[in-house]
This record gives sequence, C-alpha cells and structure tokens, in this order.
Amino acid sequence: MKKILILPGDGIGPEIVAEARKVLDCLRENHGLQVEVEEGLLGGCAVDAEGAPLPESTLALARQADAILLGAVGGPKWDTIERALRPERGLLGIRAALELYANLRPAVLFPALAGASTLRPEVVAGLDIMIVRELTGGIYFGEPRGIRTLDSGERQGFNTEVYSESEIERIGRTAFEAARKRDGRVCSVDKANVLEVSELWREVMERVARDYPDVALSHMYVDNAAMQLVRDPRQFDVVVTGNLFGDILSDTAAMLTGSIGMLPSASLNAEGRGMYEPIHGSAPDIAGQGVANPLATIMSLGMMLRYSLNEVALAEQVQKAVESVVEQGLRTADIAAPDTRAVSTAEMGDAVVAALN
Ligand code: NAD
Repeated sequence: MKKILILPGDGIGPEIVAEARKVLDCLRENHGLQVEVEEGLLGGCAVDAEGAPLPESTLALARQADAILLGAVGGPKWDTIERALRPERGLLGIRAALELYANLRPAVLFPALAGASTLRPEVVAGLDIMIVRELTGGIYFGEPRGIRTLDSGERQGFNTEVYSESEIERIGRTAFEAARKRDGRVCSVDKANVLEVSELWREVMERVARDYPDVALSHMYVDNAAMQLVRDPRQFDVVVTGNLFGDILSDTAAMLTGSIGMLPSASLNAEGRGMYEPIHGSAPDIAGQGVANPLATIMSLGMMLRYSLNEVALAEQVQKAVESVVEQGLRTADIAAPDTRAVSTAEMGDAVVAALN
C-alpha cells in the first residue's frame, strides 16, 4: 500500500492541512483510496520540539513515503535563529535528500475568479499554464561560489550557472510527459543568445523532443518570456526552464491568477515520488484565525493523486469538487469581493468534501 507523509508545518500550515486531511479521509472512506498516512514535524515546530528543522525521524519517514503533503514552514519566531536551524532549511533538506528535481507549478485561473487577476479578464480568463522548473541544479547550487577579495582589495561575489546534459534531459522529459497529458506544447525558456549553458540546454531539449513527435517544442528567451507572460499568457501550455528563470517566471505566472491561496505545486524525483505543497508560505499574519484559503493545499493533494499515486480519476474528482465550490460562490477572505461574506477555512474544506460526495 502507498504511504503518505503529512507535514503540517507552521503558521496556517496545520489549519490548511487539516482541510486537505478531511478530503483525504473522504477519499479513503467513500472513494476506495487505499493509502497509509503518517504525520511528522518539519520547520519551526520541529525546531521547537526536536531542536532541528528536519529531525532524523521526519527524514526517515520522508524516505519511506511515496508522497509528502506539506502545509508551509517558517514564521517570525524563527527568523533570527542560527541559519542552519531556520525552518526553510528543513524544506531544502527534504528536497535534496529525495532529489526532488522537477518542480511542477500549474497556474490556472478559474473562470469565476477572472476578476481577481490584476490583468484584464479578457487577457487571463481560462488561463491554464504548467511551469516546469528545474529545482536542484543551476546557479543556486553551482560551484564555485562565494565572496572573494580581489588583489585591488575590492570584494567580488560570484556564482556559477551549470547544467549537465543529464540534468537538462530529465527535466525535459518531465515537461514533455506533462505536455502529453495537456495541450501537447512545450516552450523551453533560456538565454541562449548570451549563455553557453543555455546553448547546451536548447540543444538537449531539441534532442529530447525527437522522442516526443506528438509534442510541439518552441524556444523563447527569458526576457521575452517574462513579457509574453503578462502580455498574452494564454499562448503557453507547458513552460520548461532552469532553476533561476523558473523561480521568477513561476511567481509571475502565479500572480496572473490573482490569489496565492489557490495555487498548488509538486516537486518530483526520478521515481515519481514527490512532495506536494501550496506555493504560499505560512502566512503568520492570519495564522490561528481560521480564515486561510485551504484550496491550494487541497489541489496539492489532487496533484499527489495524479503524479505519485497514479489515481488520475480521483485527482480529477478533487479538481472538479474545488471548481464546483468556487462556482457556487464560496470564497475565503483572500478571494472574496469587498463587502461580501467570506467563509472560514473549515467551511471551505467541508464544502469540498460535500461536493466530492
Ligand atoms: P506568505 O505566502 O506566507 O504570505 C503572503 C501573503 O499572502 C500574506 O498576506 C498572507 O496572509 C497571504 N496568504 C498566503 N497564503 C494564504 C492563504 N492560503 N489564504 C489566504 N491568504 C494567504 O509569504 P510571506 O509573508 O512572505 O512569508 C511568511 C513566512 O512563510 C516566512 O517565514 C517565509 O519564510 C515562509 N515561507 C514558506 C514557504 C514554504 O513553506 N514553502 C514559502 C514561502 C514563504
């Protein structure tokens, strides 16, 4: 039986994860889903309880799990502690330990929420993009790196953008596979007019494309991609790019949809095991008030069903249930129009469960 590890984390993490848990329990009780579920500590709560953001016990559970559902980590309480103990280190530690190199971030705008975007509704209505970001390579990890003092006495900071062919190929395959289940188009984003690493990136993407004759590959320079994302975002289906460019473009794409509380993500390794989490943080400003939007976390569970548990039909049911509560007009405060009644975190979770049943 597949194993799921749940890591509620800090801030609003436990509140939103509790709602995803209701959905998970409903799938187990009424929809035939067979999984084992464990819970663990990650982030600031783990620092408080065990003295480390990623305790050995959590790491051991993570290594055994087929999939991990994470709420969010961090908060002001841990902002000033020693760097190695910061909650975010726990997150990076799991990503590294499980080699979660493929970050999948869908940016989908529900028609009923077109008004929430900062772009005009006619530009974004029906938006459905999948950003595939390489997560364990590139300039964030490249060596050499550091700050050195030059002969002149001036200090110089330096980092290295590196990608090997195998790293490019595996993220390419993730993107092409994803495109096959969508609209069959991959746009690879690079800076091949300036960077050698991008030249290789482009060459390898072309090579991978030959194995996917049913998927159309195009290339775009990152500066143009940033412009096109806000000019005409619906031209994209799957966008694949490296760690640095993906970091920036995925946040841009996220904001097109208007609400950070509506966006799930998946980080996968070569065996399809993965960590699933909302893209937002622990929202300390609203933690403990029962007002956070649980839909990003519930849709992260949906992505888990699709990508790690191979339960595509259940994944679609979860997505439809979320769409239906949004269409019914249910809104947590972050997506509610001014002067309208917002529902609580728990009311939203209950509504999704009701829609599932
Ligand atoms: P944040 O995403 O937590 O919050 C940004 C804004 O969005 C806040 O006003 C918040 O109230 C709102 N918001 C976020 N999620 C929401 C939801 N589900 N429903 C309604 N409103 C929501 O970002 P931040 O304020 O920059 O960071 C807060 C903490 O979270 C920091 O400690 C940061 O390090 C951490 N963080 C963690 C992760 C993660 O766990 N993956 C990601 C980003 C930030």
